[in-house]
Amino acid sequence: MAQKLEVKCLGIMDLEVLKFGGSSLATAEALQRVQSVLLERRAEQKIVVCSAMGGATSALLTAGRLAESGDAGYRESFASIGRRHEQVIEALALPSHLKLPLISEVEVTLKEAEALLRGVHILGELSPRSADAIASCGERLAVPMVAALLRAGGLRVRRVDARDWIQTDDQHGAASVDWTQTSAAILTGVDADLAFDVLITEGYIGRGPDGATTTLGRGGSDYTASLIARATNARRMEKSTDVLGMMTADPRLVPEAEVIPSMSYEEALELCHFGAKVIYHPTIEPLRKSGIPLIVRSTFATDNHPGTAIVASPEHTCIVRGLSSMSDMALITLVGGGIIAKPGFSRRVFTALAQAAINVVLITQSSSEHTITLAIAEGDVPDAERALTEEFEADMTLGRLESIRIDQGLSIVALVGGGMQSAAGVSGQAFEALGRAGINVRAIAQGSTERNISIVLSSIDVPAALRAMHQAFFSNIVQEHRLLCFGTGQVGRAFLDQIHAAAPTLRQRGISIQVVGIVRRQRHLLDPEGIDLGQWSEQLDAAGQGHASTQEIWSHILSSPSLRPTILVDNTASEDTTALYLEAAKARMHLVASNKLAAAGPLDAWLTLNKQLKAAQRSFRHETNVGAALPVLDALAQMVATGDEVLRIEAVLSGSLNFIFSRIQSGQRFSEAVQEARELGYTEPDPRLDLSGEDVVRKILICARACGASLDMKDVHNPGFLPKTAFAGEAGQFMASLADHDSLFVSQDAGVWRFVARFAPGQCAVGLERLPIDHPFAQLQGPDNQIRIHSRRYSTQPLVLQGSGAGAVLTASGVFSDVLRLTAQPPMS
Ligand code: ADP
Ligand code: ASP
Ligand code: MG
Repeated sequence: MAQKLEVKCLGIMDLEVLKFGGSSLATAEALQRVQSVLLERRAEQKIVVCSAMGGATSALLTAGRLAESGDAGYRESFASIGRRHEQVIEALALPSHLKLPLISEVEVTLKEAEALLRGVHILGELSPRSADAIASCGERLAVPMVAALLRAGGLRVRRVDARDWIQTDDQHGAASVDWTQTSAAILTGVDADLAFDVLITEGYIGRGPDGATTTLGRGGSDYTASLIARATNARRMEKSTDVLGMMTADPRLVPEAEVIPSMSYEEALELCHFGAKVIYHPTIEPLRKSGIPLIVRSTFATDNHPGTAIVASPEHTCIVRGLSSMSDMALITLVGGGIIAKPGFSRRVFTALAQAAINVVLITQSSSEHTITLAIAEGDVPDAERALTEEFEADMTLGRLESIRIDQGLSIVALVGGGMQSAAGVSGQAFEALGRAGINVRAIAQGSTERNISIVLSSIDVPAALRAMHQAFFSNIVQEHRLLCFGTGQVGRAFLDQIHAAAPTLRQRGISIQVVGIVRRQRHLLDPEGIDLGQWSEQLDAAGQGHASTQEIWSHILSSPSLRPTILVDNTASEDTTALYLEAAKARMHLVASNKLAAAGPLDAWLTLNKQLKAAQRSFRHETNVGAALPVLDALAQMVATGDEVLRIEAVLSGSLNFIFSRIQSGQRFSEAVQEARELGYTEPDPRLDLSGEDVVRKILICARACGASLDMKDVHNPGFLPKTAFAGEAGQFMASLADHDSLFVSQDAGVWRFVARFAPGQCAVGLERLPIDHPFAQLQGPDNQIRIHSRRYSTQPLVLQGSGAGAVLTASGVFSDVLRLTAQPPMS
């Protein structure tokens, strides 16, 4: 007796428990990888817990549901499960003394499942009990395959039917484990024969009080392994899976997520409880109770990556350890007069919900205590509504409770970290990140353990929210901007090139700019991960000629959460894009445009857009509408904001017209000067917009609006300097007939031609003026602009802004600095 006890202690102390998940068992290659992992580690005696082949449990349950609904298609769906197992066995190339018994065992289990499904089909009923019996076949098919492979590798393999160890109640589908019976069964079970290298058993399944097969809930194999680890007081449990470890966020949603080297049981529990499906959350508790480390690592990593160690005291504490998310949530808000603050009210709410078996994930109470908000699973909404209406019927009739409001389509994003208890400002940082990404928060709660902050938001926002928060907490990137760029003309191209060139420096300063979409007429390029700006032009050409209209592409972008831009950049001269601004503002995007059509568009539409931007707390920066990269609108806005009053503006606002008139000044003909300006990219794509003065009308109108004037295009006087007939017809005709007007600009006096815009409250005009050569405007060279602002504060001398007001590179740089000005912290040199 004494000797037996000694053997038991020695053997069991040395054990480790390894669990292989569905993805590690999904194909013949994956199974062979499992075999080599276990052969490499043959020196350590271990217990191996297996899931079903990836997807097998779901496929079995789907066949069950088909059978229940009377659909004979269940047979084919089931047959394909059988075929998959048979094909994998074939590919394993086992010696026949192992292959033949394996094939017959698999056949027996498949026959059992088939008989069960037939019964379900005949009865038209899939009881939880039958569902468990069917689902259990997944694990029961996988274990003999792994066992055969290990035997083929020369290991001593002992098999145990997990149902002999895991004793549960009869809650089929998510049975509770009877720990006393289970731990005793495991201990005596292991001890009965210690002569093995690997003891292998099924995860997920157990046996109920009546002997029927039960299951522990989807993903439950992890839990089986932790029960065995605890019962045997194993050295450690290892979950071998398809990711390198537990990561800072679900890598499918946040590609830049990183492996967390170590974390506490409590942190892992919270992350898994709030949706990190990498570990089935009941798994943690048995290990925490006995202090057994849980290692999460990849079956497939060949570089011995250590993965994540989940332990009592991780190496480092950290404020935020990871992020997770739970979808399909709903918020129930009880709105009421006095009753909500009354003692006993919350108890009534929770009792009513508990009686209806509804799990409350999160609670928040408004500070005025007039509302209480609960988050529950969306599927529980009908039952919750019924339970609460019944409980509070009388209070509603008496008007003591106003209403029960339900909001659906929501998700919870949780920030988890043991260091949060003592750190201030975590929620502020999270809000700031979400605010910058334009995401609306519906509710927030700090968990009672103070190890998590849970934020409720619309499900559509989850990918963007996780990315924004990941950025804020796990990278040195303080700001991420996701740009959707319209227009690839000269300005659009220069803009994309400039971002590409500046990106590395900006990154060092904590600013990441990604272009998620480039749209030009008939072609577009979209990439949620950010387009490679070294190759956008080739990629766009290769994207082929699409037939989607701007509006169609836009609708696609709006309905794709992963693409969600934070800034719409418009470098077109088209109304197709300005037509999108209002919707963009509603979708909480900032706007940056070199396109003037919105800022100089009809006053009503302009005011509506601004109102919407204000409501969404977004900005519209369009500095390049006036004076290319010169900070004209910024100067006017700052003057107005600080209480100055603009009395008068005189300005040369057209780089192209100034270029043309300064060329004439040095002896060139009008027609040649226009041609040259066009070739240098100083004119609008259609030069008539410049020569009609219309472009300058727009610019002075935009300045006037920046000073607070409510003007429209028609309020700007523009007599024109070419005959009206010159503008009829096509742009080509117009260019061809330019020489007809050369004589208009020949003059004998010593003056110079300048096209001048003037604004004073109540007056706004543009026109060609003959100025003396000592006039400040006469000094302007080439495409220079000059803006002279007279104000109450600039009363003796005007504020003068001067510099080139045209050119694609400068305009693009102005657009770029508008984008950067949208960052809360502009880059510092
Ligand atoms: P197994 O079949 O091995 O139990 P699961 O598919 O159940 O594996 O869990 C692993 C998966 O969990 C990963 O492939 C990953 O997509 C997902 N996952 C979700 N959140 C996280 C996270 N924070 N860290 C790592 N993986 C995560
Ligand atoms: N095979 C079961 C499931 O798919 C259990 C598990 O994988 O852990 O849910
Ligand atoms: Mg799993």
